[in-house]
Amino acid sequence: MSTSFESLSLAPELLAVLGELGYDQPTPVQVESIPALLAGRDLIGQSKTGSGKTAAFALPMLQSLDVSRRELQGMILCPTRELCAQVAREVRKLGRRHAGLSVLEVAGGQPIGPQLEALDRGVHIAVGTPGRLIDHLDRGTIPVDAVRIVVLDEADRMLDMGFGADVETILALLPAARQMVMFSATIPKSIAKLSGEYQRDAVRVTIEDALDDTADIRQLRLVTEPDEKFHGLAWLLSRYPHESALVFCNFKATVVDLATSLAREGISVGRFDGDLDQFSRDQVLVRFRNGSLRVLVATDVAGRGLDVEDLDLVINYEMPQQPAVYVHRIGRTGRAGSKGVAVSMMTPGQQGRRKAIEELTGVSIEELDWKPVDDPDLPRLLGAIARPPVMETVLISSGRKNKVRPGDILGALTGEAGGLEGAQIGKIEIHDRLSYVAVSRDVVQHAVTQLNRGHIKRKRVKATLVGGV
Ligand code: ADP
Ligand code: MG
Repeated sequence: MSTSFESLSLAPELLAVLGELGYDQPTPVQVESIPALLAGRDLIGQSKTGSGKTAAFALPMLQSLDVSRRELQGMILCPTRELCAQVAREVRKLGRRHAGLSVLEVAGGQPIGPQLEALDRGVHIAVGTPGRLIDHLDRGTIPVDAVRIVVLDEADRMLDMGFGADVETILALLPAARQMVMFSATIPKSIAKLSGEYQRDAVRVTIEDALDDTADIRQLRLVTEPDEKFHGLAWLLSRYPHESALVFCNFKATVVDLATSLAREGISVGRFDGDLDQFSRDQVLVRFRNGSLRVLVATDVAGRGLDVEDLDLVINYEMPQQPAVYVHRIGRTGRAGSKGVAVSMMTPGQQGRRKAIEELTGVSIEELDWKPVDDPDLPRLLGAIARPPVMETVLISSGRKNKVRPGDILGALTGEAGGLEGAQIGKIEIHDRLSYVAVSRDVVQHAVTQLNRGHIKRKRVKATLVGGV
């Protein structure tokens, strides 16, 4: 009993794109949301991470767009810059048959100049963080009178991050007739209130309680004294084989300490926290996504923007204070039907937090039987996990604005020009003015040399190896 995209009344050019992307079937949240949104209804939706919420709102938004009018017609609010980038990427991908479509990221932490230029030329869809959108609204540089649909993505997180007032300011400035969509992992009172005030007769879509997220995840705990934690972490990393492991901490300081300690032991690790500048954050994410970093240590706020799938291991190095945060964190593993492992490290005194989580999720967190005395040999454990990553990342000084496409980079590296095999090249990511390509570690120096010697789009580029914590 499955529904097809065809039966959802999507336009032929969107159906064609979905076919090209290999989206064979709509996900449940798409099945429920797309018809309601095409019918112009307001909507409040809840479904688990990775369930395809972006396309659920982006497809109807694209369908209702009049590309011939260069005015802002769709606005998408996201809590973080990384999420903006992720959503904009998906919207551009789905809109690739909308000739002339302009999707602009309006996130903070980026120079405002290029945003102003783009807005001046006219954009159809803006994907932004509330703060930066307010900046533009204050300056009068974003015309909103043609906005027909506004989306609050990860609405609960946006409010958690203190964007509530900004969000309301923005909503109040939009035309009264706009359609409004909210997606949220949880629907606390604050979200229900926002819906009551700004939505009309909203359709409620709930695909499974967001907590069912945890159904595909083996939830374990390791009870240790604080001074045994590092040892316990080494044991966990050696015991659960992983391509990529995400380690959450509650504090930036812990992130820095832990990443530094792991790096000192030769472990392939990166850190991701609010203290890093945007460029470093971008780079570390690119490297984690493409297999150049095996372990990423992150805080929650930063971790929210992590666009990563198929994590096989998530570790809570520090137990979150709130059960909902726990659910968010471990929801990153076990996606797409594959089973993931989530291990929470806690002290004997933190069992109350665990019980609160178990109560919320209805799942008990199984205790692992390990003590440092069972396994006294920390150096041996560290040695076992100090394997180099399979890939390394090369940064190329040219990107989407230079009309670079993945095929151009692949072309420069393989065949007669580059001499590498396709299998030695991994994920390619094109950003505005830069690109990243993952290359097998053993041939990465060759790749850098070739790229610096050759041309991309008939222009010389500068290629450098990206590394360091
Ligand atoms: P969410 O916002 O619910 O966490 P996303 O919108 O980020 O999820 O989608 C998760 C992944 O699933 C993305 O890589 C997206 O491209 C992919 N995806 C979305 N819809 C489909 C579909 N119908 N078929 C296959 N893949 C899909
Ligand atoms: Mg999403």
